[in-house]
Amino acid sequence: MPENQLASRAACPCGSAKNYTDCCGPFHLGKSTPNTAENLMRARYCAFLKKEYDYLEETLDPQTALTFDNEGNKSWAESVQLQRLEIIRSEESGNKAIVEFKAYFKNLSDDSEHVHHEISKFRKQGGIWYFREGKVHRT
Ligand SMILES: [Zn+2]
Repeated sequence: MPENQLASRAACPCGSAKNYTDCCGPFHLGKSTPNTAENLMRARYCAFLKKEYDYLEETLDPQTALTFDNEGNKSWAESVQLQRLEIIRSEESGNKAIVEFKAYFKNLSDDSEHVHHEISKFRKQGGIWYFREGKVHRT
């Protein structure tokens, strides 16, 4: 059964059942950090959607951040409308994690629908999860 209208309208875009202010909001504000790589994945997806580019940059693994294409990220985020995130698999072992996901999106230029299927690697440093790299999975 659907929740009441207000609750569903405030639902976090990452796909959790929580409100944005109880979910990815505090991460984007720097008030807390995700306790799992999967939650970081959700928060980063959500940051794309909310155009919280600083957050995307801050959550890059310090070891790989310098080589990361932030401008490419931004221009991609501006050209699409993200619609849904689907976590396919998430595995954590020690300070490393892998999250496989599909992000469903629409190209704003021609309204065409696409799926971005990626396998992302994460690394924990000082108790904080960081995004390390992503590989596009072609099916
Ligand atoms: Zn969220």
